[in-house]
Amino acid sequence: NRIVHTDIEIANNADMKKIAEIAASLGLSEQDWEPYGKYKAKLSLGVLDRLKDKPNGKVILVTSINPTPAGEGKSTVTVGLGQALNKIGKKAIVALREPSLGPTMGIKGGASGGGYAQVMPMEDINLHFTGDIHAITAANNALAALIDNHIFQGNQCEIDPRKIVWKRVVDLNDRALRNIVIGLGGEKQGVPREDGFNITVASEIMAILCLAKNLDDMRERLAKVVIGYKTNGKAVTVGDLQVEGALTLLLKEAIMPNLVQTLENTPAIIHGGPFANIAHGCNSVIATKMASKLSDYVVTEAGFGADLGAEKFFHIKARLGDINPDAVVIVATIRALKMHGGVTSEALSVENIAGLADGMKNLEKHMETIDAFGVPYVIAINKFITDTEAEVAYVQKWCEERKVEVALTEVWEHGGEGGLSLANTIVEILDQQTSNFKPLYALDDTIEQKITTIAQKVYGADGVNFTDHAREQIDAFHANGWSNLPICMAKTQYSLSDDSALLGRPEGFTIMVKEMRASIGAGFLVALTGDVLTMPGLPKEPAALKMDVDQNGNAIGLF
Ligand code: ADP
Repeated sequence: NRIVHTDIEIANNADMKKIAEIAASLGLSEQDWEPYGKYKAKLSLGVLDRLKDKPNGKVILVTSINPTPAGEGKSTVTVGLGQALNKIGKKAIVALREPSLGPTMGIKGGASGGGYAQVMPMEDINLHFTGDIHAITAANNALAALIDNHIFQGNQCEIDPRKIVWKRVVDLNDRALRNIVIGLGGEKQGVPREDGFNITVASEIMAILCLAKNLDDMRERLAKVVIGYKTNGKAVTVGDLQVEGALTLLLKEAIMPNLVQTLENTPAIIHGGPFANIAHGCNSVIATKMASKLSDYVVTEAGFGADLGAEKFFHIKARLGDINPDAVVIVATIRALKMHGGVTSEALSVENIAGLADGMKNLEKHMETIDAFGVPYVIAINKFITDTEAEVAYVQKWCEERKVEVALTEVWEHGGEGGLSLANTIVEILDQQTSNFKPLYALDDTIEQKITTIAQKVYGADGVNFTDHAREQIDAFHANGWSNLPICMAKTQYSLSDDSALLGRPEGFTIMVKEMRASIGAGFLVALTGDVLTMPGLPKEPAALKMDVDQNGNAIGLF
């Protein structure tokens, strides 16, 4: 009969330090940061220049098995591990993504960890934070307006209004905006055309901000963004419209990482939050690099399971950002393992060793994948209070038999204290093993080869089929000279295959690539294997129904 406090109740009772104190603990001087209220700060990009000769701290990537719809607790474990590392006397920083308002008001709940492993002030972080996502919305929509104005004013670039790929964005789940018609109302109101909205975090600008090395690199990437095509099929870019400078200006604060703290005052840098399907699902390169200059250990995460998040972290973020992943934490929950063993969602809180045993094959595939990348790892069992002792013992024994490191992790319930075993194991791994990180494909492999390598080596597929449409697009990308970019796979997160119903470790399947998209500014080619929603809808009972503000101005109902 324990009292379980909600995340916001725990957060409201947190003993936060002033952000100046957190900044000072990292050795930052006053010109290195700008306060955003008492508990948030923007870090100057000058920090990276100043510390460029300092050795990098170790980068620990937190990933997971294929998740259930609620999430497996990657953010929670990331925050908890950062806290635990500090508890055992190590200097660690947590590097996370910024939550999007769409999922916050919809189904997901926050993305600031949970229980006693949260980043603070969770209320701000889950709402408007320091305005980065709003700035990206503004830059994205400024470009949209400039495109339509260009056409209205004579269309010097000969943009075909039917071939514009740049969409407008808003950071909410709003299915009614997916497909719209704009420019109605006569000659003076613009040129009518079909358009649509994406959620802001699916904007290529978000991906660019997260992969840019500095302001100049961001401007160059923005200039390369393809906004549409001419009637003769030639690509039209932001550079052709000469507006990359204006977009960079709108993003000059958003590119600065945000410094906050965890419930236990561990420094946390929260910056960028690209969608994990249409984009690469990792926080910014700048934030991860800065964290590795400011501490000995950086704990960071990537969206969804290791088949999507870790694969893209390795092939896109680490490669473009020149980041060396030193170790991986694979988060697994007993609940999700049981689901992979065929247990129904209603029966997940009942002990079921047979189901659990059958579900271990999903974890096994992800272990093989991380091995293939050459990075040492530990399994973190993210313990739920419904897990039984026998179930936990089963997973521990299974790992011991295979001589893989495993740590029971109770950070949601106990904060850093609950992550001591994980922290000690990670430190031991980092002291005793070296990462031989290597990508699985080379950038100069053909587009088809790159996709096939991911499907076979990471998903365990027999091969890949391409629709005629996707093949035509690949030929066109090749003709445009875009073949040497990494691939960003868009696939269901629930299964290793492209069929969300195939849990466990499917075999004898092929992947179907239906469509390709070119994110030339971000620097990757997206391969879509299913119907990928870039503007989610709200569920029947949105989380928004429980939200309010109390008499003291504090948030209610943020989970
Ligand atoms: P992910 O990053 O994998 O999407 P999160 O860390 O955001 O997952 O966790 C998803 C939700 O599950 C959050 O609401 C979090 O509070 C909750 N959660 C995570 N770990 C536990 C746990 N061990 N026990 C209970 N709830 C948990």
